[in-house]
Amino acid sequence: MHLTPKNPYRRAAALAGIALTLGGPAVSAQAPAQTPALPTTDATVRRAMDAIQAQQAWTLEQQVSICEVPAPPFKEQRRAEEFRRRLVSFGFANARIDGEGNVIAELGTAGSGPTVMIAGHLDTVFPEETDVKTSRSGNRIAGPGIGDDCRGLAVVLTLAKVAKETQLQPKGRIIFVGNVGEEGPGNLRGVRHLLTKEYTGANKVDYFISVDGAGQASIVSRAVGSHRYTISFEGPGGHSYGAFGMANPMHAMGRAIARIADLPVPARPRVTYNVGIVRGGTSVNTITPMAQMDIDMRSEDPAALKEIDGRIRAAVDSAVMEEKARWPDSRADITVKYDTIGIRPTGAQADDAPIVQVAMAAARAVGWTPRTSASSTDANLPISLGIPAITIDGGGRGGGAHGTEEWYEETPDAYKGAQFALLIITALAGTGR
Ligand SMILES: [Zn+2]
Repeated sequence: MHLTPKNPYRRAAALAGIALTLGGPAVSAQAPAQTPALPTTDATVRRAMDAIQAQQAWTLEQQVSICEVPAPPFKEQRRAEEFRRRLVSFGFANARIDGEGNVIAELGTAGSGPTVMIAGHLDTVFPEETDVKTSRSGNRIAGPGIGDDCRGLAVVLTLAKVAKETQLQPKGRIIFVGNVGEEGPGNLRGVRHLLTKEYTGANKVDYFISVDGAGQASIVSRAVGSHRYTISFEGPGGHSYGAFGMANPMHAMGRAIARIADLPVPARPRVTYNVGIVRGGTSVNTITPMAQMDIDMRSEDPAALKEIDGRIRAAVDSAVMEEKARWPDSRADITVKYDTIGIRPTGAQADDAPIVQVAMAAARAVGWTPRTSASSTDANLPISLGIPAITIDGGGRGGGAHGTEEWYEETPDAYKGAQFALLIITALAGTGR
């Protein structure tokens, strides 16, 4: 659907510096035909770049304070309200929370140029009872979610504040977002709602950027998709001695796992699978009526993902047949049920796509060496819908994501995370009216 004719970005070499001309190729509102140039000579953008650097400490304060508002999966509301309150205080009087719980603030108007959405995710992986207080020693701050994704939220807040302060006027529209449901159990529900319910048709989003975690210049441009299921094996069950001789759901599951474990996968495209959790059983001397396993499979190639899904289902079917064949005199059946834990769409996006090229140029403009990679992030959803999307780093350094020992280190040039993002969104939305 999106027309992105091949455009080897011939000016890329020139972008190692920031000696760029204002304007660049004409950008139509509907179908950007060429990679837009970075607006590094635009006076307002320059002021905004300076303001970001000057407010580095403020950005870090936002990161720490928003992190101390808990946001377990499906319970992001308190953090969402606080995020909205801050956007309103910057001058976004209409900042709102949508039906799914996402916080939204808009700059510019639809229809006059491309619409660019930039988002950090509100949710964490941590359950409600987790202590979210942070602790600081020197430039290092520890706390659950401090990098993933309080860094992204702080970058989005900084961009929104600086845009208002410098009266940045995009040609198109920039939408600042704190979204829900990025982590596993959320199944991308926040971004799904934004891109399939809130912003559709004439109001659609042309580019989506997620700022996720600390780091420098990593650009996630390919979406690793995943299928996750709980597979249940069920039968009548009975006494381990008295009812011996019937097909056993636990044994069938064991056979299935053994078959799955032997499935070969190609080296390229990368395909992975994992039985991560098994459960079931009532006692050591009971043939259990039910056994369950949770399985995850991933690939960045949609056909390969579909294929491994089919082969895993075939392995489960043969395992059940084998278990039943083991006891030909028994009439006990075993049934199999699949419950979906999550389906994350996969999709390919070429490295010469304008959004990727703009991000590479923006990274070089702030002095970073960009690299593209494949991952499973909020960008999966737009990529699967044909909306150009990337996930980028927010600056600084970090580690231990998804653990309570998570840490973030404020490097002297951490402000470059927000500058990198600013160049991307202003290049894509266009500047000056
Ligand atoms: Zn994250």
